[in-house]
Amino acid sequence: MSGRETDVAIVGGGLAGGLIALALHKAQPQWRIQLIEAGATLGGNHRWSWFDSDLSPAGEALLEPFRKVEWDSGYDVAFPKHRRTLKADYRSLASADFHSGLTRELPTEAIRLNTHVASLDAEGVTLEDGERIAARSVIDCRNFTPSPHLLGGWQIFMGRHIRLDEPHSVERPVIMDASVTQHAPAGNRCAYRFMYVLPLARDELFFEDTYYDETPVMDRDLLSRRIAGYASDMGFPDGEEIGREAGILPVITGGNFKAYLRSIRIPGVATAGARGGFTHPLTSYTVPIAVENALAIAERSDLSGQQLAAWCENRARAHWRKTAIYRALGRMLFKAAEPDRRVDIFQRFYRLPEELIERFYACRTSLPDQARILMGRPPVSIPRAIRALASKGEPLTMETPQ
Ligand SMILES: Cc1cc2nc3c(=O)[nH]c(=O)nc-3n(C[C@H](O)[C@H](O)[C@H](O)COP(=O)(O)OP(=O)(O)OC[C@H]3O[C@@H](n4cnc5c(N)ncnc54)[C@H](O)[C@@H]3O)c2cc1C
Repeated sequence: MSGRETDVAIVGGGLAGGLIALALHKAQPQWRIQLIEAGATLGGNHRWSWFDSDLSPAGEALLEPFRKVEWDSGYDVAFPKHRRTLKADYRSLASADFHSGLTRELPTEAIRLNTHVASLDAEGVTLEDGERIAARSVIDCRNFTPSPHLLGGWQIFMGRHIRLDEPHSVERPVIMDASVTQHAPAGNRCAYRFMYVLPLARDELFFEDTYYDETPVMDRDLLSRRIAGYASDMGFPDGEEIGREAGILPVITGGNFKAYLRSIRIPGVATAGARGGFTHPLTSYTVPIAVENALAIAERSDLSGQQLAAWCENRARAHWRKTAIYRALGRMLFKAAEPDRRVDIFQRFYRLPEELIERFYACRTSLPDQARILMGRPPVSIPRAIRALASKGEPLTMETPQ
C-alpha cells in the first residue's frame, strides 16, 4: 500500500463531485484535492440544463469556466390546450465540456480517472488495487442507488443529438412539448410524456423523449423511433445522429428519509450529490442544488471531516423538509390523475405566474406559491386528490439497475 495523503478525497467525478472539487480549489488553492472517478472521463455522458434564474451570482461564477450553450430569448412549452413562451434564459452543458473545464481548472494531480474506489472511511479511501489515500475529509459523491426506503416513480428519457442536413428555424428551447400522444412505451398504460427540443446550433437539434411512469423500464428502440417520428412530423430536415444519452431517474414522492440516510451513511464520510438526497424530487434535476452545495461546502473548509459529514447530513434533512411540496405534487401526478390526464396537472401549472414557475424549478417554492399551486379548481377529482396526498407510493427499487 502506498501512503498518499490529501486534504480532501472526493469519490465520484460526476456533476456533484466535480463542482465540489472546483469550488474547494477556488476557495483553498493550496489544498491537495483528489477527485477520484471510476470512468474514463469526468461527468459521464450527460447534457445538463438549467434556467439562468436557478442560480445565484456566485453559482453563475462557479459555472463560468465551462463552455455552455446559452439561450437568452426565453423558452416555449406546449400542451393540448395551452401554449406559452416564458422569459427565463436557459443554459446547457455537455459532459465533454464539463470534463474539459475541470481538467483545465484543477491541477493535473488532483484528478484520477479510471480509478475505482473499493471502500471509504473517515480517514481516507482504499482503491480497488489496494492503494490507500489518507484524507482529512472524505466526500462520497457516487451515484444515487435505488432504495426501498424511498417511494415514488420514475422519469425515463432518451436524448438524440442530430446534425441536420439543412439549418432549422427553432429560435429557443422547447422545454416541454406535451401536445404529443400521452402513452408509455412499456405496456399500454399512459404516462405523462413530453418532447424536449434544444436548438444547439443553426443545424443541430437535441431531441429528448421523456415520460413519467411507475416502472423503471426503457424500450430504447421505441424511444429512438419516437424521436425520429417527432422530428419528421415537425417537418425538420433529415440528419445524422452525433450523440445520444438516456436515463431513468427517480421521482421521489415520499419515504423514510432518515432510514435512507442510515442505509447509505459511512461514519465520518460526508455524502453529497444525488446519492445524498440533493435532487429536485419531481424533476429529478440537480444542477442548482449541486452548485449551491459545492459553494456551501467550500465555505466550510474549516470543518473537520467528521463535522463536514454531520453538516452535509443536516443539510440533506433540511433539503428533504423544504422539498415536501414537490413530493406531494408527485403523488398527485402518479396517484390522483387518470394516467391519460396526467398532462392536465402540468398544463394547469404552466398557466401560473412566471416567477412562481421559476421558483419551482429552483426549489425555492414559497408558502404562498404552494397555496397557489394546490388551490383553485384541480385538474383531477377532489376525492382522488385527497387520497393521493394521503397515499404513499411504490418503493424506488430496480431489479436490474439501468
Ligand atoms: C442522461 C441524464 C441527463 C440529465 N440531465 C439533467 C439536466 O438537464 N439538468 C439537471 O439538473 N439534471 C439532469 N440530470 C439529473 C442529475 O443532474 C444527474 O443525474 C447528475 O449527474 C447527478 O450528479 P451526481 O454527481 O450526484 O451523480 P453522477 O453524475 O451520477 O456521478 C456519480 C459518479 O460517481 C462515479 N462513481 C461511482 N462509484 C464509484 C467508485 N466506486 N469509485 C469512483 N467513482 C465512482 C460514477 O462513475 C459517476 O461519474 C440528468 C441525468 C441523466 C442520467
